[in-house]
Amino acid sequence: MNIFNRLESEVRGYVRSFPTVFCSAKNALLVNEAGQHYIDFLAGAGSLNYGHNHPILKKSVIEYMLDDGVVHGLDMATLAKKEFMQAFEQHILKPRQLNYKIQFTGPTGTNAVEAALKLARNNTGRNNVIAFTNGFHGVSLGSLALTGNQKFREAAGVNLSDVHHAAYAGYFGEDVDTIAMLEKLLADRSSGVDLPAAIIVECVQGEGGLNTASLNWLKRLSALCERFEILLIVDDIQAGCGRTGTFFSFERAGIKPDIVTLSKSLSGFGLPMSLVLMKPELDIWKPGQHNGTFRGNNLAFVTATSAIHHFWKDDCFAQQIAQKAELVKKHLLDMVAQYPQAGLKQRGRGLMQGLVFTNPAWADEVTSKAFELGLIIETSGSQGEVVKLLPPLTIEVEQLEKGLGLLSKAIASVVQQHEQTAELPLTPKNPKAALQEARA
Ligand SMILES: *Cc1c(COP(=O)(O)O)cnc(C)c1O
Repeated sequence: MNIFNRLESEVRGYVRSFPTVFCSAKNALLVNEAGQHYIDFLAGAGSLNYGHNHPILKKSVIEYMLDDGVVHGLDMATLAKKEFMQAFEQHILKPRQLNYKIQFTGPTGTNAVEAALKLARNNTGRNNVIAFTNGFHGVSLGSLALTGNQKFREAAGVNLSDVHHAAYAGYFGEDVDTIAMLEKLLADRSSGVDLPAAIIVECVQGEGGLNTASLNWLKRLSALCERFEILLIVDDIQAGCGRTGTFFSFERAGIKPDIVTLSKSLSGFGLPMSLVLMKPELDIWKPGQHNGTFRGNNLAFVTATSAIHHFWKDDCFAQQIAQKAELVKKHLLDMVAQYPQAGLKQRGRGLMQGLVFTNPAWADEVTSKAFELGLIIETSGSQGEVVKLLPPLTIEVEQLEKGLGLLSKAIASVVQQHEQTAELPLTPKNPKAALQEARA
């Protein structure tokens, strides 16, 4: 690890949480230099929904390269891009009756968010955009202005402007209707909130701690946007591509956002690729007005096409995700009941679930202990209080159960350690009350 600690900038992050050198990977398994195995419940922060080195995706990209397929093509037309668009139209858009045009942006998620913002502002002629508390949309300046987390915001060095943060679903607890609050702010022309170009939302907040908007909340948000002629942007960079159980995270809410951003697992193979979907009438770009050298990662197009053909031609994959999601939920609820001392709560949707800890420090200790035991898992949330499970959607059930077992063991170990030192969680709770609350 010496060269990483000595030469790599202090900005490095995940390498600190998982200080070992990984050298190979297969589906949900990572192997380090010493040959030790780790189960991967991080999956590239949701970039590896189909696991590491999926054999079919890997074969497609190797064959493409052996045939001297175009690797870099700016945004010129290539066979790889044509086949991706054909597959995306036929198997993703059409079956869902979605009518969108596709903008290929630079390869990272934040590139797609920046393009979506420009598009919304240019279409409406308005500056303001509404984002939500605990939202995460990337760290380039436009996206950073939307992002809630202070840790990222304070590094900006300039004013982050033209964004108003509204309360996300459940922000003030279950009893406070945050859509009604937003409605009032928009309807009252003396609220001080300028009519926004767009409202950007994650249906489940990935980095923000797995806060989950109900389908009804999303429906009402969409209706609100329609009423005030505000564009609705769903940032599906982390929650999309099957993570919550359907290809898009908004499908079950029955809404049709004006703009959608996709990235992370879009290529299916961990290769960088992003895009913006927009309703056709919003496509007011002039040729080349927004660009980027790496809008044509053809290797990513090839694996993205394979992933669509392999996973999204019918409902089978979605059903498998639902089964695994049920299994995860059951195990997490068991842990909530088993460790009342930790004051746990289960949260999330699909294979994007986690445990909220009363004391954020315990969540951190649990992920460290999990790493020792051979499980890669991270925290999220404003104080890192949520242990977030993001296993590959393709994880073998046996591996999934093994990983859940390791997580349970890690919690047991942390709980025991604190009991020995007679330290209680931040809000001391008697076990019986904690159990009742967890069940409620
Ligand atoms: C990761 C993420 C982004 C930013 O993607 P990058 O590739 O890191 O720029 C934006 N929005 C959401 C919801 C994300 O999870």
